[in-house]
Amino acid sequence: MHSAIEPIALIESPYKQKFAIPRQPRLIEEATARCVFLPNFNREEFVRGLEEFSHIWLIFQFHETIDKGWSPLVRPPRLGGNEKKGVFATRATHRPNGLGMSAVKLDKVNYERGQLWLDLTGIDLLDGTPIIDIKPYLPYSDSLPNATAGFADTRPETELEVSFSQSALTQCNHYQNTYPNLQQFIVNVLKQDPRPAYKKNRSGVQDYAMTLYDLNIRWQVIGRENKVTEISAIDSDTL
Ligand code: SAH
Repeated sequence: MHSAIEPIALIESPYKQKFAIPRQPRLIEEATARCVFLPNFNREEFVRGLEEFSHIWLIFQFHETIDKGWSPLVRPPRLGGNEKKGVFATRATHRPNGLGMSAVKLDKVNYERGQLWLDLTGIDLLDGTPIIDIKPYLPYSDSLPNATAGFADTRPETELEVSFSQSALTQCNHYQNTYPNLQQFIVNVLKQDPRPAYKKNRSGVQDYAMTLYDLNIRWQVIGRENKVTEISAIDSDTL
């Protein structure tokens, strides 16, 4: 086997830490990203014809967790963290060889001032993720409407309600000049309830924080059986 795998590109993503990243692509359409080609692959001809495709496959390395090893059994989050399945029966990040795959929307192929990059939406990737390969998505073969998927058969839904405090809303409106769909983006990220399974049944107020783009976003899960989330503050790192 030819073992020298060399990344071809790096992802620039609004998701700066693993917490709160959607667990599959296209669950959150507002997540925009760039796939920026590395010097050895920074050639327009390498992507000639790619702009004809609406979606592409990204093969990537789970670089943040690759050194943490893997286990034969994992607890898929959608089973509430209570049940174990074999690593190859899941899309877990901790796996032998640490490779992931995501079908994402290709918005634009760009080449400017000597740099090649792709604009993407609906990604589920951490900032800095190394891309190992890119392939066009082929609907006639890759789309399987009759496929069944056992414990992961439907899109995950939660009952979480998401609201903004008055001051967070003002801050959000301000930052929307830079990040146009910010409010809907935040709502959709929180609606998927990123809390770890073991915290979901806790009572009382729970405080959380996450970073999207360069923004620190703080929120609380409050009352009514932990089904209400309120965003309390949005601050920029760079101001
Ligand atoms: N669609 C891919 C990824 C599924 S796992 C696949 O099926 O192979 C998705 C999770 O991977 C995200 O929720 C995020 O927490 C994690 N993740 C994304 N990019 C990562 C990276 N570069 N390193 C480690 N974990 C990452």
